[in-house]
Amino acid sequence: MKKRYTSTSIAQYWFAQWCLWSIIENRHFSTPPIPETLGVIFNKVYMLPELEYNQSVFIEITNPIHGGPGWDFGTCLWSPVQDKGGRNRWQILGDVKQNDFVIHLLKDPDYKWVGISKVESKVKSLKSSPPNPTDWADMAPYQRIDLYQYNPLSESAYVNNIFNSYTERLVEEYKKDKSQFYTLYGEEKELRIQQRYLAPCNNEIYAIFNEVSKSISFSPSFSENIIHVPTVNEPSYADYSAPSRKDVNVSRIIRDTKLSRKVKETYNWKCQICGMQIVLPTYDFYAEAHHLIPLGGNYNGPDVLGNLIILCPNHHTEFDYGSIAINPKTMLIEHTDKRNIFHNKNLNYSRKDLDLSSLKYHYENIFKK
Ligand SMILES: [Zn+2]
Repeated sequence: MKKRYTSTSIAQYWFAQWCLWSIIENRHFSTPPIPETLGVIFNKVYMLPELEYNQSVFIEITNPIHGGPGWDFGTCLWSPVQDKGGRNRWQILGDVKQNDFVIHLLKDPDYKWVGISKVESKVKSLKSSPPNPTDWADMAPYQRIDLYQYNPLSESAYVNNIFNSYTERLVEEYKKDKSQFYTLYGEEKELRIQQRYLAPCNNEIYAIFNEVSKSISFSPSFSENIIHVPTVNEPSYADYSAPSRKDVNVSRIIRDTKLSRKVKETYNWKCQICGMQIVLPTYDFYAEAHHLIPLGGNYNGPDVLGNLIILCPNHHTEFDYGSIAINPKTMLIEHTDKRNIFHNKNLNYSRKDLDLSSLKYHYENIFKK
C-alpha cells in the first residue's frame, strides 16, 4: 500500500525536529528555532566551549600593562582586596571557580575582545604586590586567580562592533541585570564598557560571544578540566606518634605539590590498595600522596615520582605506621594483621614508574619485616 503523508504526520515530523532542535540548542540559547539552524544540528553549534552545569564565565576588562612580569595579561586575574574606602569592591573574584572561563577585553586603544582562558585556581589573598600595579599601587593585600590555556583570537573583535551588532539583546539583558560588562550611557542609552574590572557573563551574553566567534571562525581549544583538591583541605603537617609496640615516630607530611597532583591525576585519585576514589561535594576528587621513603626527619626521602604512591586516608595512615606494605619481590600487599582483607592480595593497579628501592626501603625499615 502506498504510504500517504497526512497533514498530521507532517506536523508530527516537524514537531519531532523542533523537539530535537530544542534539546540540542536550548541548553544555552533562548532564541526561538529558525529553520536554517536545523542544518547545523550535526555540525558544530558551539564555537566557544559548551558549559558544564557548574561552570561559569566571567569577563575581564583591563589594559595591556595588567600588573607587569609574572602578572601578565592572560595569565591571571588580580585586584586589591578592598578599595581605598575599605569596600570589597572586587568581591566577584571570590565567585570564580576552578575550570570557569574568562573572556578577555583589552583597551588598546579601543576595547577589543582578544582572548579566552580557563581558571586554574580560585582566588588567593597575597601580601605581595605585582611589579607594576599602576592605579592599584599601595593597596595591599591583593587577591589573585591563576589562569591557563589562554586562547588568543587571531583577529580581535572590537567591542563597539559587538555593541552595534547585538544592541537589542544587550539592552534587554541590561534591563534584567545591571551587573554586565557594559552600561547604558546618557539619554541616548548608548552601550558603553562598564569600568568594573571583572563582570559576570550569563548564558545570553555568552551566546552572543559564541555568535561573534562563529562570525570570525574563532574556535578555541581547551583540554579536559583539571581536578585537584585545594591545598587547604589537606593537613600540611601532622605529627603522629606511632604505636609504642613499634617504637618509631612517623611524621605525616602531606603536601599538595605539582608532582603529587600529577601522580594523583595520572592514577585517577584511586587508592592503590583498595581502589577507593573519594568524591567531594564539589565533584573534586580527594586522594593523598604517600612518600614511601618519608620526606621528613632523618629519612629525607626524595620527592620524585618513583617514591610516591596514591592512597586513601585510611591506607595512608597504615603505610605511615607500617601496618601495611607492598612486598618489593612479589608486589603483593602485606599486612601485619594476616586477617586483613588486603593481605597477600594484588594491588588495585600496577605501576611501572615506582622505584623498587623505595618499596624496599618502606618494606624493610617502616613495615619492619
Ligand atoms: Zn585505600
